[in-house]
Amino acid sequence: MPTFSELKRTHNCGELRLSDAGKKVKLNGWVDNYRNLGGLLFIDLRDRYGITQVVIDPNKIDQKMADEATRSRHEFVVAVIGEVITRPKGTVNPKLSTGDIEIRVDEFYVLSPSHTPPFEITDNCKANEQLRLEFRYLDLRRKPLQDNIRIRHNVALAVRNYLSHQDFYEIETPLLIRSTPEGARDYVVPSRVSRGKFYALPQSPQLFKQILMVSGFDKYFQLARCLRDEDLRSDRQPEHTQIDIEMSFATPEDVFTVMEALMKDVFKSILDIDLKIPFPRYTYKEVMDRWGIDKPELRFGMEIVDLTELFSECDFKVFVDNVNSGGVIKGLVLKEGAGYSRKQIDELTQLVKEWGAGGLSYILRIDSGDKSPLLKYIDEALQEKIYQKSALEKGDALFLISDKKNITEQILGQLRLHLGRKHNLIDKNSWKFLWVTQFPLFDFDEETDSFLAMHNIVSHPNEEDLPLIDEGFDSSLSGADLNHPWRKARAMQYDLVVNGCEIASGGQRINRRDLQQKILNILGIDNDRAERMFGFLLRAFEYGAPPHAGIAVGLDRLVALMTNCDSIRDVIAFPKTANAVSLMDGSPSEIDPEQLEELGLIIREE
Ligand code: ASP
Repeated sequence: MPTFSELKRTHNCGELRLSDAGKKVKLNGWVDNYRNLGGLLFIDLRDRYGITQVVIDPNKIDQKMADEATRSRHEFVVAVIGEVITRPKGTVNPKLSTGDIEIRVDEFYVLSPSHTPPFEITDNCKANEQLRLEFRYLDLRRKPLQDNIRIRHNVALAVRNYLSHQDFYEIETPLLIRSTPEGARDYVVPSRVSRGKFYALPQSPQLFKQILMVSGFDKYFQLARCLRDEDLRSDRQPEHTQIDIEMSFATPEDVFTVMEALMKDVFKSILDIDLKIPFPRYTYKEVMDRWGIDKPELRFGMEIVDLTELFSECDFKVFVDNVNSGGVIKGLVLKEGAGYSRKQIDELTQLVKEWGAGGLSYILRIDSGDKSPLLKYIDEALQEKIYQKSALEKGDALFLISDKKNITEQILGQLRLHLGRKHNLIDKNSWKFLWVTQFPLFDFDEETDSFLAMHNIVSHPNEEDLPLIDEGFDSSLSGADLNHPWRKARAMQYDLVVNGCEIASGGQRINRRDLQQKILNILGIDNDRAERMFGFLLRAFEYGAPPHAGIAVGLDRLVALMTNCDSIRDVIAFPKTANAVSLMDGSPSEIDPEQLEELGLIIREE
């Protein structure tokens, strides 16, 4: 057999056209398919670029080669030498870019045989995901995954180009850092040289990118790997990639402008879609009021209507009592939903109860007379007002929740999405971006009776809410009291949402030591502990730290949306399972006793 240098391809498998007819070529690739027709052997040869049909007449080539060709099976890697010929009339394949030609083979060589693959390398592979992850190299040969990985590359490239042209520097931050928990658990790496000490893998480059601002780099970005040791939900990965950005002397508006232009550029260059910018901006309060969720899906309407005031005038005791104790009554109108049957309503009621509602009320507006258990408690004038306020027309259904404000909004938010999906109200061809701004600065955890950072310990409070920070230290109210000053403080923190998905999150950062320390104190981190955990950041703030703001876009999620994939696993070359296991290389794994010894580690049996 000749050496590979002699067999190396002159063309790839997606390249040859009619105009190449007559050329003597060498092709290398995988056997995608083979057929034996009337003594002729047809092989579809595949590589990243496409498929080319090669034809072997066993009687016209060397017997050994003919035997090798006859024995070649799916996924063998082969080399052929032959002539490009025009396909005979009637055998042209318009589905292939190379479908006008085929190769008449003179020489055939197997470069590397293959076992029978555990699943077919086809576009619609039905094999279970476990098996596909174990043989990820085979899964990745399939065209849909090849396409996803290509698009991911193109997105990353477009991002790099765009940001470089806007004067951003891509700067790498370290992978081995100090453990500074940011919310999730850190992955830790034991140090051999400094026995008993550990590095952490970064959950994000957050503190380093802020320090780069202190260093005067002004505009930074990085396609950064972020590692979080979280209990994984179905579509989380222990490592993900984000487009990480930070800017000095900047406000949230500056970040919005850069991000909007970046998204516009990426969507145009990759999908040829013209996004309309600027994206609308809503405060957290507004999105919760209108859509009951902090990442609203705006590809359909059905906003939540507040009917608290009107229902407070009705005679239904449950509603009135709820209003009197500070609760709300809000609803959703399902257009043309008045035909809902008893059974359908029971199913919806069951659903909202699972989500934590006490029950579901409804009004169905039907020609033959409106249907609702509530009507006997509402006089006609009030009915009319309710219909007007909620724009409830004949033929529509109104679904109502009466509960505490946050519960009501959250359940209606879920119900809205459920109804939108169930009744196909979502316009699948549109892209609805929006900014959600002014998140609460803190969450209050009733169980531990403590304040937590709603997003990030470095989020800057809204400028007009700064007095609330000091007021909170002097307040006699308990944290559980909704009027506690810290519960009213908003953050200059924002999310970018598209089609109901949060794809980016960022904020104006604190750039002063005193303020950062106060926020840490509120989070239960006293000055000593703050010094131990974040001393390097606090110290940097003592040497002239510019006001700065930034954002991070989830690259995996963005690409999954752009490629219409349900799971981010489909846009990551080597993803892990929901248990953070890599089925292909079998990580995590035990390590050698010598390695443990060297690190000074002993594994304790449970
Ligand atoms: N560091 C944040 C995160 O990883 C993003 C940011 O605020 O820039 O979620």
